[in-house]
Amino acid sequence: MSSPAPEAVAESLDFIREIAHQDVQSGRHPAIVTRFPPEPNGYLHIGHAKSICLNFGLAGEIPGSRCHLRFDDTNPAREDIEYVDSIQEDVKWLGFDWGSHLFHASDYFDQIHGFALELIRKGLAYVCDQTVEEMRASRGTLTEPGTDSPFRTRSVEQNLELFARMRAGEFPDGARTLRAKIDMASPNMNLRDPVIYRIKKVPHDRTGDKWCIYPTYDMAHGYSDALEGITHSICTLEFEAHRPLYDWLIDHVSAPCHPRQIEFSRLNLTYTVMSKRRLLELVEKGLVDGWDDPRMPTISGLRRRGFTPAGIRHFCHRIGVTKYNSVTDMGILEEAVREDLNKSAPRFLGVLRPLKFTITNWPAGKVEMLKALNNPADPEAGHREIPISREVVIDQDDFMEVPAPKYFRLAPGRTARLRHGYNVTVEEVIKDAEGNVIELRGPYDPESRESKPKKGVAVIHWLSAPHAVPAEVRLYDRLLTVPDTSTVPEGTDWTTTLNPDSLEILSGSLVESASVGQKGTFQFERLGYFRLDSKHSQPGKPVLNRTVTLKDTWAAIQAKPG
Ligand code: ATP
Ligand code: MG
Repeated sequence: MSSPAPEAVAESLDFIREIAHQDVQSGRHPAIVTRFPPEPNGYLHIGHAKSICLNFGLAGEIPGSRCHLRFDDTNPAREDIEYVDSIQEDVKWLGFDWGSHLFHASDYFDQIHGFALELIRKGLAYVCDQTVEEMRASRGTLTEPGTDSPFRTRSVEQNLELFARMRAGEFPDGARTLRAKIDMASPNMNLRDPVIYRIKKVPHDRTGDKWCIYPTYDMAHGYSDALEGITHSICTLEFEAHRPLYDWLIDHVSAPCHPRQIEFSRLNLTYTVMSKRRLLELVEKGLVDGWDDPRMPTISGLRRRGFTPAGIRHFCHRIGVTKYNSVTDMGILEEAVREDLNKSAPRFLGVLRPLKFTITNWPAGKVEMLKALNNPADPEAGHREIPISREVVIDQDDFMEVPAPKYFRLAPGRTARLRHGYNVTVEEVIKDAEGNVIELRGPYDPESRESKPKKGVAVIHWLSAPHAVPAEVRLYDRLLTVPDTSTVPEGTDWTTTLNPDSLEILSGSLVESASVGQKGTFQFERLGYFRLDSKHSQPGKPVLNRTVTLKDTWAAIQAKPG
């Protein structure tokens, strides 16, 4: 059984859910069976998450239904076990479960081969000796019909014999193909005698060297669906024109059932890329720190960065399912994750770019423990104690020697409230030989903790310097400088649009010691959500990734003129 994600139960049904629920209500199917069919040639990305949430989510909503995980492993040359493992990990992490329904298209090679023989016997498939170029030249165009292959009229016996010899490995790669005999004049190019088997003398991860002929995607996909008893075969829009072929192939053999193919639009996100080919290019050229680089739109990248499964499911629910191609704003994904984290993430204090503040009327050596709420958004989360001493650090951003208009934080003579603590006032600004501010000094007000901060007094984050823990903090920005790579001119390398400032490493940050022991994503008050980096952190040397800022600063920056 698939585990239903609570967010997946839509209050209003999208058109695919509508069809599925209707098919069950009308008694056409007692329950539904869907599948998620990745090709194991890369890591899953957020676009796949949309498909996963739809397929598994839908099966979870209708009693007795299920969703299969099926590896579409028909192309032995491109697949890798690393991808197979990562895909399973990612689907589970997103909160879904295929139970015992884990399959591979290669499980069906015998049956698919049987269907090919059935088509040949019915005079509906033939062995063709045309080269790729000849085939292309005789295919016609959208406005002109194609021309029949000279091999189209081979007899059933000839075809059976040649296909057997293809299978026996008698011919080199590409020498012959098996083609469906449909209609070279069809207005749908996919029906112009498509290739359904090709010779590829490449051993397969699962079937070894049993086969040297492999079915094409169209040949394998529909039959795999039919053999698994899939009721609704949900795929992305680019397969719409393949649907007549999907139906034709199933209709002309003794398949156990005829699944209904339904298409929806792919997810595209601004300022990133969503094709496995391009993501692989970034990995192979070393332009990112692997498939799970926190800037990548991969599930593993988002996980490493601190995104949560509930946040991603929430996003997929929010964007819905339609047939319109569009590009979704990255800000919508970040907002969905923020909403989840706001409820669930524990709060800590951290200082990204520390500036020393000496509290001049605080006795040296005295340490007081202050009570701090773990999550102001969740009173159940309790509180913790944080130390304060004579030497604290604040963030450099929270002090301006000459305050700009509308800047209300610290400046010479000004007072601010230390979060969960006391008011402090800047009396003295200490600089180094170059004129850089290196320390602030001033008193605290012992009475201030009991009162609410006065209007106009900013609340700032801080830490007791001797108690804080050093950490490296990594801040991320958009992967690309352009919202949509389809606007990159022909002939220009799309990787030139990579954002050179997408990663900023801060090596001198200080954080609350309990924060670095967190397994999940947490908040540094006023700074955003963070998560310990699983790849680069070492004992005593934490590396923290910023998941997202607290507000959509990006939208604010874009809205500013100039
Ligand atoms: P890519 O173009 O990124 O290589 P793909 O379609 O080749 O993706 P598959 O492994 O074949 O990747 O995809 C598995 C399933 O995920 C398919 O059903 C596919 O339609 C769906 N899928 C892939 N990309 C997206 C996307 N951007 N939005 C929604 N669904 C997607
Ligand atoms: Mg694919």
